[in-house]
Amino acid sequence: MIKIGTIQELREQLRPYRHQKIGLVPTMGYLHEGHLSLVKKARETCDIIVMSIFVNPLQFGPGEDFERYPRDIARDEQLAEKEGVDILFTPSVEEMYPSPVKTTVHVKGITDTLCGASRPGHFDGVATVVSKLFHIVQPDYAFFGQKDAQQVAVIEQMVQDLNMPVDIIPCPIVREADGLAMSSRNVYLSPEEREQATVLYQSMQEAKRKIEQGESDAFRIRSLIMQKIREKKLAEIDYVEVLTYPGLEPIADIGGKRIIIALAVKFGQTRLIDNMIFNL
Ligand code: AMP
Repeated sequence: MIKIGTIQELREQLRPYRHQKIGLVPTMGYLHEGHLSLVKKARETCDIIVMSIFVNPLQFGPGEDFERYPRDIARDEQLAEKEGVDILFTPSVEEMYPSPVKTTVHVKGITDTLCGASRPGHFDGVATVVSKLFHIVQPDYAFFGQKDAQQVAVIEQMVQDLNMPVDIIPCPIVREADGLAMSSRNVYLSPEEREQATVLYQSMQEAKRKIEQGESDAFRIRSLIMQKIREKKLAEIDYVEVLTYPGLEPIADIGGKRIIIALAVKFGQTRLIDNMIFNL
């Protein structure tokens, strides 16, 4: 595995491989099995896998966890190499943003809801950095986790609207044994918070059973989930929504549609997100 910190060196390294299939796995590091599943998926179709590790200041709001976001580059290097990453791209903030950005990418509409509503400007930061990475790496394929389902919808919309020559490959959510979606932020949780955090998956599982039994009222599904989460005293709901996917429109009756149950819940300072997508 080659480790690269500059855009120029990355471009030079990739030049001989331009006729091969290049895959990009963008991450913010502190790698876990969720990230590594994207590399595994990339191995199926790509000859060269580039993983980027960059904690992107542009997608963090004031008072969010940019400074304290967990970082362990030595460990990440080992995991990435073991999984078969060919090039690990770890640019500094100065390398990516040598001067304040005056050009950003804004995807309309679908960024007004869910995490876009709770974290104003977040998806502009995401779309801008992903667009930069696409220009830097020029991958044939880019791999994103459905853990961040709204992010997938935003990136797919951006790629379509701007004719970016890359195929977006969404990959399933990887979970801990008890159902908690893997996340770099899970290390923030106290043991008690960690235990109560399993309610996210459990509440959606319960909703899933109800849907399978014929429940199709979005409001009732949402209420059921919120009720279940509120039983956990450390949980503070940011949002629970039942929307169409990928359009992220509100709906009353979910019958016959592709929908997402999406939730964000805070445990102390730690904000967790999770979701399930249903084709009904
Ligand atoms: P992050 O480092 O959190 O920005 O995540 C980098 C990529 O890994 C994103 O495409 C995420 O959606 C994906 N990812 C993070 N956690 C998981 C997970 N538990 N399962 C699948 N993909 C994930």
